[in-house]
Amino acid sequence: MTTRRLLKTLPRLGCFLFLAGCLSAGGICGVADEPEVTVRRSQMLMGTLVFVTAVAPTEAAAKQAAGEGLAEIRRLEELWSTWIPTSELSRVNAAAGKTAVQVSPETYELVRRSLEIGEWTGGAFNVAIGPAVEAWAFYEQPKVPSDRELEEVRGQTDPRHVRLDPTARTILLSRPGMHLDVGGIGKGYAADLAAEVMRRAGATGAVVALSGDIKTFGRMPEGKPFLFGIDHPRRRDAILAALTLENEAVSTAGDYQRYFMQDGVRYHHILDPATLRPARGCQSVTVVAKEGILADGLDTGLFVMGPERALALVEQLAGVEAVIVAEDGAVRVSSGLQGRIKLKGASWREGGA
Ligand code: AMP
Ligand code: MG
Repeated sequence: MTTRRLLKTLPRLGCFLFLAGCLSAGGICGVADEPEVTVRRSQMLMGTLVFVTAVAPTEAAAKQAAGEGLAEIRRLEELWSTWIPTSELSRVNAAAGKTAVQVSPETYELVRRSLEIGEWTGGAFNVAIGPAVEAWAFYEQPKVPSDRELEEVRGQTDPRHVRLDPTARTILLSRPGMHLDVGGIGKGYAADLAAEVMRRAGATGAVVALSGDIKTFGRMPEGKPFLFGIDHPRRRDAILAALTLENEAVSTAGDYQRYFMQDGVRYHHILDPATLRPARGCQSVTVVAKEGILADGLDTGLFVMGPERALALVEQLAGVEAVIVAEDGAVRVSSGLQGRIKLKGASWREGGA
């Protein structure tokens, strides 16, 4: 996770603003015999604007939960930011080709789950993609790298060289020049962990939103479920579809979130590990799952797989649903979301393999 790295994520905010618009304005919103309080807080963390909404029986409890949720994300940023040289992830990357580094349970789990999602997606999700992302310089001065530049880093992006030792809780990058990039999964996991902290602090309901990576539990006051809008990938500030969430996470990967145009070609930040170039086939992939780590990891991996293979995988995975906008704008909805989702005037085809 980088701080500067995730700065240009404003379009994704549309999802949450839509959602926030459906929440009460904050402060106290009581119901006759079961008063509940909603408190909302926001802060720049992990390079993006993070919103937390806490619902609790008292204002003090809601404030406490919201504050603890933000503090948890700040703590995780210190573990995972590659802009902090002493972060755990920076230390793992700096030791590439040299030594194994002992890490916290959270960092270990983040990398372990990344590798697992990498296997499920046939290598489409690749947490070792870092050197290729650097070659495109998406976070500095974006440029199209030469074939030679990409071939030079290919050997450093092989996830088989990420070695985990569960007993010692260490991570070893066995080739010099390797580095982990958790930009495709870290915010989703941070949302999970922050929501859990909020629950333990006494919240009965919560939304944690790190731009487009959102985790919810419980309900709003008056028993209302959380309403979420999926960004339209080609119409700024427009919503493609809406759905309600309950004890679920949602995450969107899109070619509109960070990209540059050159000679009429859109070069975006989700790379196909096979070519080390921007993945073609999708405009966006939104995943609904129980866990944010899964929703975030899978949205990136499914995006790379393309609509057909992605939908086939989603239909095999229990508790995972997706809305996929193909390169030509056709919208595909997985079977478990049909009937649950309201599309806003888009043409769409039913999902399934
Ligand atoms: P997301 O918005 O969740 O799709 O994450 C995009 C970020 O994931 C990029 O900015 C990169 O840091 C990273 N990334 C790009 N391509 C991949 C890939 N194939 N597998 C894993 N992470 C990737
Ligand atoms: Mg992702």
